[in-house]
Amino acid sequence: MAQERSHAKPDVGSRAAGPTLLDSVKNSVSEPHTQDSRLQTQGSVLQTLDSSVAERLRRIVGEKFVLTDRDELLVFESDALTIHKCPPTAVIIPGSAEEVAAAVKVLAEAKIPFAPRGAGTGLSGGALSRSGAVIFEMARLNRILEIDYENRTATVEPGVINVHISQATAAHGFHYAPDPSSQSACTIGGNIAENSGGPHCLKYGMTTNHILSVDVVLPSGEVITLGGAGIDRPGYDLLGLFVGSEGTFGIAVRAKVKLTPLPEAIQTMLAEFMTVTDASRTVSEIIAAGILPAALEMLDGATIRAIENSIFAGGFPTDVAALLIIEVDGLAAGLDGISDRLQQICLQNNARAVRTAKDEAERLKLWAARKRAFGAMGRVDTDLMVQDATIPRSKLPEVLDEIYRIAGRHGLEVANVFHAGDGNLHPNISFDGRDPDQVRRVKSASDEIMKLCTRVGGSITGEHGVGLDKIDFMKLIFSDEDLGRMLDVRDAFNPLGLCNPGKVIPSVKTCRYCGFAVEDFRHKLRGEHESLDHA
Ligand SMILES: Cc1cc2nc3c(=O)[nH]c(=O)nc-3n(C[C@H](O)[C@H](O)[C@H](O)COP(=O)(O)OP(=O)(O)OC[C@H]3O[C@@H](n4cnc5c(N)ncnc54)[C@H](O)[C@@H]3O)c2cc1C
Repeated sequence: MAQERSHAKPDVGSRAAGPTLLDSVKNSVSEPHTQDSRLQTQGSVLQTLDSSVAERLRRIVGEKFVLTDRDELLVFESDALTIHKCPPTAVIIPGSAEEVAAAVKVLAEAKIPFAPRGAGTGLSGGALSRSGAVIFEMARLNRILEIDYENRTATVEPGVINVHISQATAAHGFHYAPDPSSQSACTIGGNIAENSGGPHCLKYGMTTNHILSVDVVLPSGEVITLGGAGIDRPGYDLLGLFVGSEGTFGIAVRAKVKLTPLPEAIQTMLAEFMTVTDASRTVSEIIAAGILPAALEMLDGATIRAIENSIFAGGFPTDVAALLIIEVDGLAAGLDGISDRLQQICLQNNARAVRTAKDEAERLKLWAARKRAFGAMGRVDTDLMVQDATIPRSKLPEVLDEIYRIAGRHGLEVANVFHAGDGNLHPNISFDGRDPDQVRRVKSASDEIMKLCTRVGGSITGEHGVGLDKIDFMKLIFSDEDLGRMLDVRDAFNPLGLCNPGKVIPSVKTCRYCGFAVEDFRHKLRGEHESLDHA
């Protein structure tokens, strides 16, 4: 049976006036963090939205677009990283930017936290409800509002699926360049929030390089526009700040994105290696040679086997230790020369064979297989831990070796498929999430992998974001002072911490009642700090 939940009133400083914001935090602490804790607590964790607030939200978006039934809410309890599960208090599905703003105002008045959600393909637990947050499901804001070929831009709503922009503009010779492997499902709103990358971001740049402006509903309900139709506006780069803010600065309700001309010619090669080290060295040498491929992806043996055993089979050889997919594009003249040079580098590094896709159908088949690698791993076991880290490319051989050793020490198999040209690793571990011992070993191995990557000068995420999953790793690269400054920046957009609480910045202070991160509410808590004895 779901529990009735009281949300804090605006006058949070007064303990006598009713439930405070801290009560709200305390009420939310039974929410599960990870799958193992969920096993113990599921059944008593769902909270309900105050009925008068729910009624006001229904008046804004319509009866059927506010979900409060337990069964419906469970659909939103995780993103694609299913190890984290947090069922929301309610889900609201607005149909316009105006509805988003009006609904945010209602929640802000009631001091109820909320979090935006796109397609839920995120791999860091970013779109999950913490502290009893109401989820804003943005799927109905899925219109391409304008395509301006003259200025090479498209204006879209945040729920537009990434690949739909390229599909809508292909006949005119354009595409939207950032291409996450999830591009057939993920949304532009999610891409902006995560500053998503993709295979072709090596040459074309990440999401941030392709966004001209974003209309944002701030956590107060006000609407602002960041950026504009032209590039490099004066003043602080607030647009750059917003892109990658993981839904903690506000809700994107409209974006103007750049359109990129389709290349005149493309050549895609598949290079086969009998050792991961040879493939890794090849990556470094290609970049060191001054060649900038459009994409440079690596798949190891475990990944290849998962793909070839699935319906996504791409005709990859299964007896190799690693494959590189190398794509070059641009003007037709000169492309053969670059391909010859790439082939030479591969062969010098002991490639067994290098072949070029003979036609567009074969090229697309290679990419379809590569982009569905995570999906193929879904067959291997009930759960998949997808990790994301960056390292200097020159460290690829030693880091990959060590990653296999770490997995081996924990009795796990790791499969690597990643944007090698960017040094953006994705070690994946398949496991049975119903087995607490396996969950524990996966977490230990993930911890060691993150520490390894930071030790060699890398970072804890390349493109999937910090979200909930990486929050504890932030301290591997940032001091408390660094994190404090980040919180100051967040406060400028999100002063009460109502928008996507519990994400990105680790707990600076921990509530003694709940042992749960309260830093999102620190402004309100500061006033109560002494009496509440936060440690
Ligand atoms: C098979 C697979 C392959 C993937 N490949 C890649 C890849 O190659 N590159 C890559 O970068 N990622 C990849 N991802 C991760 C994921 O697809 C991206 O992070 C994507 O941008 C998430 O988009 P989404 O619409 O699903 O967002 P969600 O998962 O719903 O949300 C992600 C974050 O965005 C915020 N958010 C969503 N909408 C808005 C909005 N309108 N305003 C403000 N914040 C918002 C959420 O609060 C959350 O913090 C992959 C995932 C899968 C499952």
